[in-house]
Amino acid sequence: MLVEENRICNSGKTDAPFFAWPWENFGNYKYLLYGPLIAKVLYSMAGEGNKEDTWCLHILILFVLRGLVHQLCSTYSNLLFLNRTRRLNQQGINFNQIDAEWHWDNFLILQAIVASFSYLCFPSLANLPIWDIRGTVCCLILHMGISEPLYYWMHRLLHSNILFPSYHWLHHSSKVPHPFTAGHATFLEHLLLCVIVGIPTLGTAFLGYGSISMMYSYVLGFDFLRCFGHTNVEVIPHSLFEAIPLLKYIIYTPTYHSLHHVDTRTNFCLFMPLYDLLWKTINANSWDLHKQICTKTNDRVPDFVFLAHVVDVMSAMHAPFVFRSFSSIPFGIKPFLFPMWPYTVLVMLIMWAKSKTFLFSFYNLRGRLHQTWVVPRFGFQYFLPFAAEGINNHIEDAILTADKIGVKVISLAALNKNEGLNGAVILKEIPQDVDEVFLTGATSKLGRAIALYLARRGVKVLMLTQSTERFIKVQKEASVDRQKFLVQVTKYQAAKNCKTWIIGKWMTPREQSWAPSRTHFHQFVVPPIIPFRRDCTYGKLAAMKLPEDVEGLGSCEYTMERGVVHACHAGGVVHLLEGWEHNEVGAINVDQIDVVWDAALRHGLKPLQI
Ligand SMILES: [Zn+2]
Ligand SMILES: [Zn+2]
Repeated sequence: MLVEENRICNSGKTDAPFFAWPWENFGNYKYLLYGPLIAKVLYSMAGEGNKEDTWCLHILILFVLRGLVHQLCSTYSNLLFLNRTRRLNQQGINFNQIDAEWHWDNFLILQAIVASFSYLCFPSLANLPIWDIRGTVCCLILHMGISEPLYYWMHRLLHSNILFPSYHWLHHSSKVPHPFTAGHATFLEHLLLCVIVGIPTLGTAFLGYGSISMMYSYVLGFDFLRCFGHTNVEVIPHSLFEAIPLLKYIIYTPTYHSLHHVDTRTNFCLFMPLYDLLWKTINANSWDLHKQICTKTNDRVPDFVFLAHVVDVMSAMHAPFVFRSFSSIPFGIKPFLFPMWPYTVLVMLIMWAKSKTFLFSFYNLRGRLHQTWVVPRFGFQYFLPFAAEGINNHIEDAILTADKIGVKVISLAALNKNEGLNGAVILKEIPQDVDEVFLTGATSKLGRAIALYLARRGVKVLMLTQSTERFIKVQKEASVDRQKFLVQVTKYQAAKNCKTWIIGKWMTPREQSWAPSRTHFHQFVVPPIIPFRRDCTYGKLAAMKLPEDVEGLGSCEYTMERGVVHACHAGGVVHLLEGWEHNEVGAINVDQIDVVWDAALRHGLKPLQI
């Protein structure tokens, strides 16, 4: 049956009545549905309204708070450095799941509408007191006596052979639970959920014990527990259940609900396992698994680590634990980031003072665990002389730690260090018919490799460097018949007739102005140069697309498209896939450039565009 249902999961129907949301095609304009409520509140603030308008204000505040509860739970769920050892499903959440759950907040709009209509039908609801202790008791009784069992049977029905393939498959199509999965269900299911939430809240109000605080706490508590069950991180200590055994039937745990997602014939309850006990659907493994997760830390050693750093304050907000959806699209500056800027600066200062290198994201490729670790430093700090030592210590510590725990390959990001595939990607972009290039940063690690490689190909390389000594050192590495292709130049003017510029050092608009019209600027400089010339083209930082069979990848690397990573990251992946033993920290072996490129293509990594 389990296998059966899983199969249906992937091919569920979407045309059943009340499957889709009425505002399915509105996109983000759906938030305009809050418009009438906002208008009414503004109207009353202008002094024209009456009591009913405070009710509207409460609905609005409540729905902002509900969104916040979900957001905070999402943040917690994505703080891998805090909870990696307590994760239930070890897979990452991929782009497909993020896209499917994109409009997880539809039910908040629905419930705001239902709440508004409840008021319009029963105006007496406007007169609720702030607090009524009897209401709390009444609300709990209604919840336990009606909502819980009703949800239980509704959920069991949703798993029947008729309703599952028409509706409930959608919720179960999310492979790795996440707080947003809690809201991910069909319109029909959320209409039913309105009844579940409505009985204790409106019921208490109709019985005369209603209060504003009861409304807020029940609804926010309800949301929190739904998110909590889907966090994919176990937080309740098992010792608590050992001390008070009864408690395990009163409140469920993330482990408990995660088992429902694994074995869909068990653990149907809303929040209280009591009802699964009553109707004999408790998963026998529930408490053992809970104990196992709480006592045994499953801290799997990654096979590969990409050691990155934060680019700047704006891009720091692109982290998956800030906004998951934003992180799943390439980074770009968005208006909503500006109000958060001061807080992020504060976080940066705290990180500078306190933080260690931390686990940022992960994915799996062919059974191997790949992690990105972040050095708690921002790009600009790399250019501060007094910060250099701190950064070097962090990088060194991270490398030592990785080595100690048994990481097979560690790759250092752009400002930390360059790697061979970086050069390969740039070199493969240069058209075959080019016979002359201009190269800056020419005696750097990567610049040297590019110069020597092109000289072998018979391309004349104008190497910009002030140091004749360093130039000669590189030139001598080329075979005698190729040395003539390497030419030292000391001014940008020398390249005023060359249309292929390879930039390895930051350059000013004035320096760019020497390039002839229709020049293409290839780049291996971080940060990239500002595209100042309208009549020229600019290459992006070298990057490659990860193989199609990458699993659990759900965030974009900085401005890169989905699945695309910087060449230094991709280089490490190739290294691991090939099982190479050699170290890439020293000078780049020019012979390796074609080898690493061919290996990358063979393993399914793709160049972006050539
Ligand atoms: Zn279910
Ligand atoms: Zn669920």
